[in-house]
Amino acid sequence: GIKCGIVGLPNVGKSTLFNALTNAGIDAANYPFCTIEPNVGIVPVPDSRQDKLAEMVKPERVMAATMEFVDIAGLVAGASKGEGLGNKFLANIRETDAIAQVVRCFENDDIVHVAGKVDPLSDIEIINTELVLADMESIDKAIQKVQRVAKTGNKEAIARLATLEKVSAGIAEGTLVRNLDLTKEEQAELYDLHLLTIKPMMYIANVNEDGFENNPYLDAVTAFAEEQGAAVVPVCAAIESEIAELDDEDKLDFLQGMGLEEPGLNRVIRAGYSLLGLQTYFTAGVKEVRAWTVKVGATAPQAAGVIHTDFEKGFIRAEVTAYDDYVKYNGEQGAKEAGKLRLEGKEYIVQDGDVMHFRFNV
Ligand code: GDP
Repeated sequence: GIKCGIVGLPNVGKSTLFNALTNAGIDAANYPFCTIEPNVGIVPVPDSRQDKLAEMVKPERVMAATMEFVDIAGLVAGASKGEGLGNKFLANIRETDAIAQVVRCFENDDIVHVAGKVDPLSDIEIINTELVLADMESIDKAIQKVQRVAKTGNKEAIARLATLEKVSAGIAEGTLVRNLDLTKEEQAELYDLHLLTIKPMMYIANVNEDGFENNPYLDAVTAFAEEQGAAVVPVCAAIESEIAELDDEDKLDFLQGMGLEEPGLNRVIRAGYSLLGLQTYFTAGVKEVRAWTVKVGATAPQAAGVIHTDFEKGFIRAEVTAYDDYVKYNGEQGAKEAGKLRLEGKEYIVQDGDVMHFRFNV
């Protein structure tokens, strides 16, 4: 599955948020392909288009796209030096595809802040420094290894050394690898190092119920993230964990009472999804309406491969209706009559929301 790791200093609200995500999570029985682990919450990706398709097609079942959130507790200053089980946590982060950093933007005198006061930018710096230091170690090791080979005049090794030294110089200044403006080739060269700060990262600003506006902590995080080109999702974890415990009817009442259309958690999930460069296409039949996840830029055969590898191997063509056309012409038949059902070949780049059928050889 696709994994987003939740990190942050102690007492910033990670567990509260994670519990909310887990409570809002899927019924594992419906998703036999997912393995459920205690520190992993598997959540459906909320998508109103899927709801609309289900309403139109009335299938036997509806399957949402899913995303995994991994609770990575215990990242503290000194983690990269192995303090506080640090290395284990860093190893856990290594296995994720993206990082959601929870930052405390709420005051509460009853809840101790590990650094003594609420200061989100300093919290971010502590966490990011640990991540950068861990990457520094990986880079240094790689440099030592490749230096020997480079000395023999090996061209590949020389090129790799140049990339590694460029990255090393960048992170020595505390810059996240992701922000170093590396070329695609350079990034590919770093792939096997599984660096931490090359992963996409977003900040989850945990605010009080009344802390969405006029909150200097939130403003500071927003300004900082903007500079980095990173997303910020403000959320009140405490409220989200309450909402997640309600049954569907009470949930609606509660949200309406607060003038909200959906839980704030949905924004967290969607932000994670787009952070990963993912998009959705649909299959819609009487048996099942289902959302499938592909990388932005995926071709039709690659999209077919998400359903089954045989679909990709034997791909012939795809019948594609854009979501808006599907709705406008009241389903596939109507779209077909209006000339909006397209036949697409191997080169077709899947668009977000496409409703697709695949033709393939077995
Ligand atoms: P973690 O150590 O980062 O996992 O933090 P926790 O989730 O255990 O939260 C630490 C404390 O902060 C708990 O007592 C939570 O109830 C409280 N907390 C979490 N989110 C909020 C929030 O949005 N507002 C307030 N006032 N308290 C919160």
